Amino acid sequence: QAKSTGGGVFTVYHPRMRDGLVERLELENDLRGALERGELRLHYQPTIDLATSQVIGFEALVRWPHPVRGMINPLDFIPIAEVTGQIVPLGHWVLHEACRQAVEWSAAAGGRPLKMAVNVSVRQLDRADFAESVAQVLAETGMPADRLCLEMTESVLMTDTEANLEQLVRLKGLGLTLAIDDFGTGYSSLAYLRRFPVDTLKIDRSFVERLGVIADDTALTDTIVRLGKSLGMATVAEGIEEFGQLAALREMGCGFAQGYYFSRPIPAAEAGRLFLEGATV
Ligand code: C2E
Ligand code: MG
Ligand code: MG
Ligand code: MG
Repeated sequence: QAKSTGGGVFTVYHPRMRDGLVERLELENDLRGALERGELRLHYQPTIDLATSQVIGFEALVRWPHPVRGMINPLDFIPIAEVTGQIVPLGHWVLHEACRQAVEWSAAAGGRPLKMAVNVSVRQLDRADFAESVAQVLAETGMPADRLCLEMTESVLMTDTEANLEQLVRLKGLGLTLAIDDFGTGYSSLAYLRRFPVDTLKIDRSFVERLGVIADDTALTDTIVRLGKSLGMATVAEGIEEFGQLAALREMGCGFAQGYYFSRPIPAAEAGRLFLEGATV
């Protein structure tokens, strides 16, 4: 709305615009402090093997318990961290903590292998030393490379293709696995999918959501599962909330799944117990 400044001059004033900027600067500043003080936490969402119903591992999802604002959703601070570059130290902390935790839980369970999936931002991949820093984390934590999966969105395949391809090849060289997150929402072409050393497709929740409700979407999900199979990739369905969706995905031959139907992302202590019990969900 227009607001009088007193001298007969009207300036356009949008309270939300100003609040948005101030809030962003505040969050940016708070986030720096939170990182330094070690205030960030990881929650873990189980990954289920659809053939055995066993929990084979977890996806690490960052949480920010803000002293004043309460729990802040990653979608509200990861984009800020990406703009400011804070995503690099933040992402490094997430990777280190998730690997450390995986090694600890696996040891507590008598060495039973635990797959840990960690989300990686394109901004992290942009760094020439990224693969090196991942290698360092694996060495420091004792995490076997083949138990780590790095998740990235399709934009990695679409932007700065050559540099990203080189980076992914280096990461694959460490022996870890790579997943395309939210698959189906971007624009990756089949040609790129074949060229990039990707092991896993994570089928976006928007496809799972409408399974069995809208015929076309069932066909689309089925096509993605088949695509994964024909490219020799594993398929993970995200966002399963209902039994019907689970049944449909099993029928299609989807390999793995995550979703509230099995478990929400849970704090470390709870996730550790779940794995130790060898839970079948
Ligand atoms: P994502 O990697 O696709 O993670 C899945 C998101 O879906 C998570 O939200 C999870 O809590 C939510 N989810 C899982 N199952 C269900 C379900 O059955 N129903 C519904 N409605 N939602 C479900 P979250 O934890 O809020 O994370 C949101 C996004 O933030 C993630 O999407 C990821 O892109 C990003 N993110 C989270 N942690 C990190 C991180 O450590 N680094 C980076 N770079 N990004 C992260
Ligand atoms: Mg993910
Ligand atoms: Mg996802
Ligand atoms: Mg998603």
